[in-house]
Amino acid sequence: MVVGNGPGLADRLAGGTVLGAEGYVFELERRGYIKAGAYVPEVVLDFPGAVTELHREFLRAGADVMVALTYYAHREKLRQLGRESDLEAMNRQAVRLARAVASEGGALVAGNVCNTWAYDPKDPATTAVVHAMYAEQLGWAAEEGIDFVISETNDYLGEALIALEVSQELGLPAMVTLATTQPASTWDGYDYVEACKILAGHGAAVVGLNCDRGPATMLPLIARIRDQVDCAVAAQPVAYRTSETSPTMESLRAEGVSRVFPLALDPFSCTRFEMADFAVAARDLGVDYVGICCGAGPHQVRAMAEALGRTAPASKYSPSMDLHPVRGTAAASRDPGVLDAWNVTR
Ligand SMILES: [Zn+2]
Repeated sequence: MVVGNGPGLADRLAGGTVLGAEGYVFELERRGYIKAGAYVPEVVLDFPGAVTELHREFLRAGADVMVALTYYAHREKLRQLGRESDLEAMNRQAVRLARAVASEGGALVAGNVCNTWAYDPKDPATTAVVHAMYAEQLGWAAEEGIDFVISETNDYLGEALIALEVSQELGLPAMVTLATTQPASTWDGYDYVEACKILAGHGAAVVGLNCDRGPATMLPLIARIRDQVDCAVAAQPVAYRTSETSPTMESLRAEGVSRVFPLALDPFSCTRFEMADFAVAARDLGVDYVGICCGAGPHQVRAMAEALGRTAPASKYSPSMDLHPVRGTAAASRDPGVLDAWNVTR
């Protein structure tokens, strides 16, 4: 069943940049609805209103796609939590929540699968296990109604290819993006650029990268991918300031903090301006699907949408700093001491 909220993925990609927004698991963990460590989206069944609210915040901020929150909602993970019996309900409900909000603003609905931690390239039997996990998740998603599949945070090219195959068996377009925790290659040893070329060769509608890297360290890699593949390209970085010495959020270090990832990343957060700059830089490189992953907030998504030349519903409340009592037009009448204290240049 297709969703029918206006043009499909291919038409939207042909018409210009598609803006994605993810990072649901991190944001809902911050809000107290998901347990860090397990990172299973129990919130879908336990507090569906919280999921709906975040979908709506991203929609109002200008996101073109509502991604069903089924990240880690697969058999292996639910078994660990003793909630295997909730598997189907959780997957179906996640798609329903995304669909309901998508229909409020003409957005696309994406079904979502991710790395399973069940795949082992050295053990061929795991291919069938992962195929079965993806087939049941995406089968339920397809029955509930999605426009396309996002297979993401893939550490292994082999596992990504299974998701692509299942999507094709269901007749759904697939966007397949790789995790990039290693300097140059997937965990099964494929150079990231080569892996994207292979995915494109197998018929993925969109290939690229998501998660792990922030804008600064994802852009150079995505530029090489853009140069080498013919299909649409996606870039959805984490909203953290990664660098050459710490190219991923997992490798970030801070003095006096024993472990930055995943619970003490806050000081590395990108500002809305940095994410806006990323959106423009990615578009200018020829990236077709520009988005954001872990660490995302609606303020950054809105800034990205506006930097891409759009007005989002939430733009009604975008900053008007001229109205600020010290930093705005009233500054001219303020005491110089006050202006100095507020770091206002006269
Ligand atoms: Zn992420």
